Amino acid sequence: MQNCLILGAGVSGIAAAKLLIDKQKNVYIHDKDKRKLRELYDAKIIDNQVNLIEKFNRKTLQFFDTLVLSPGVKLNTKILQECRLQNIQVLSEIDLASMFCKAPIFAITGTNGKTTTVNYLHQIFVAAGIKSHLLGNVGVPFCGEVDKIDSKSKVVLEVSSFQLEHCTHLECAAAAILNFAPDHLDRYSCYDDYEDTKAHLLNCIAQNGVALLNYDDVRVRSRGLDNLNAQYFSLTKLPPDVKGYYICENKVMQNTGTRTRELIELPELNIRGDHNLSNLLCAIAMAHIAKIKPAQILSALTNLSQPRHRLEFAGEKNGVKFYNDSKATNIHSVKTAIATFSQPIHLLLGGSDKGEDFAKFLSKLPPQVLTVTAFGKMGKKIYRQAKRQKLDCAYFPKLNLAFDYAKNIAEAGDVVLLSPACASFDEFPNFEARGDTFCNLVAEWLSEK
Ligand code: ADP
Repeated sequence: MQNCLILGAGVSGIAAAKLLIDKQKNVYIHDKDKRKLRELYDAKIIDNQVNLIEKFNRKTLQFFDTLVLSPGVKLNTKILQECRLQNIQVLSEIDLASMFCKAPIFAITGTNGKTTTVNYLHQIFVAAGIKSHLLGNVGVPFCGEVDKIDSKSKVVLEVSSFQLEHCTHLECAAAAILNFAPDHLDRYSCYDDYEDTKAHLLNCIAQNGVALLNYDDVRVRSRGLDNLNAQYFSLTKLPPDVKGYYICENKVMQNTGTRTRELIELPELNIRGDHNLSNLLCAIAMAHIAKIKPAQILSALTNLSQPRHRLEFAGEKNGVKFYNDSKATNIHSVKTAIATFSQPIHLLLGGSDKGEDFAKFLSKLPPQVLTVTAFGKMGKKIYRQAKRQKLDCAYFPKLNLAFDYAKNIAEAGDVVLLSPACASFDEFPNFEARGDTFCNLVAEWLSEK
């Protein structure tokens, strides 16, 4: 590895460039947005020792021995074939970082719950007095931190399917899969392609490392069939011959393969829904695999903090409760959100398209969802499909108008839930901005007399 080309000048690509400069490599970076590339360079956000490549095609490849991909970049098959022909190694950003990492890596993937679960694990490690580095898809590039990590620390890595494409060097001490459900179908050729990419994490485990799989998700469970180092986690009792962790009568139990033992009696938890209990169990299992003592794990549980924009309570007025679940960017997470409420729901759905099938989802919506208020780029399509299902529905081009409508029709005892099942990019820079807008709208409404 000497002549390296990085594709994509987002935070991950820029961190990869800096790392490679520090490692004395010849570094080049390309982004299809030439203007942005130049601006980042002029603002010294891209290290000035990095060379800019404005035009990239198959011919450009001959100057390089290594290609580093930012998660946002999908290589087309022609370029990939060319890399194979020319013996150019292709690495993802986390793969590159892992080559320099001295600490054990605890990685978590899945369609939903990754950020929540890595946050839980990180909090358990910190409570146990361990220097824990929370990195990856949470928004902190692994490449940017790897040189600050010593061998006594632990890396908690959130891994997306995009980051797993072209991962060949990553070796995790333990790697977990939470669940599989359709998502990012705009990027993958089909659902199986997406699921296989996520499951590739199981090929990135060190020799004595552990694959930790959600037993309650049948598709995830089946990925452990030919894996001798697989362990499982479940919200119900595991069969005696299945190694892993489960919850029984509010206690976390461990099946070691030869016996069953109690690890922890769960204290009162400030988390919402069984899905979050499952996420927490995964984090507890990971921590235990990392040799954290049950008493230390327990000490972290009473005060667990939750990441924002995931079923976040935003306020209450006239008996109507408002929840911000802006991070619910696929149908699977919206179904999960609905299941956590017993009250009637006014659901806000919409944003930009990720290729999911709303017709099926809307046809099976539980009667507890009283109304659907659709908004944004996907809003019209969702509205038309909801109308076809004879649902009580409305459409507005923007979130603020949808909110105004929903808040006016909600009655005491109801819930207004922003759980949009779509990406946010049509109206907002990201899901955080969408969630903040919703919370601000709620706050304004609360302050009105
Ligand atoms: P990710 O990082 O995988 O996107 P998050 O923890 O950010 O996951 O949560 C994303 C959305 O999925 C939120 O709406 C959250 O309430 C929901 N969610 C969290 N955990 C699960 C789970 N285990 N199963 C289904 N949905 C979940």
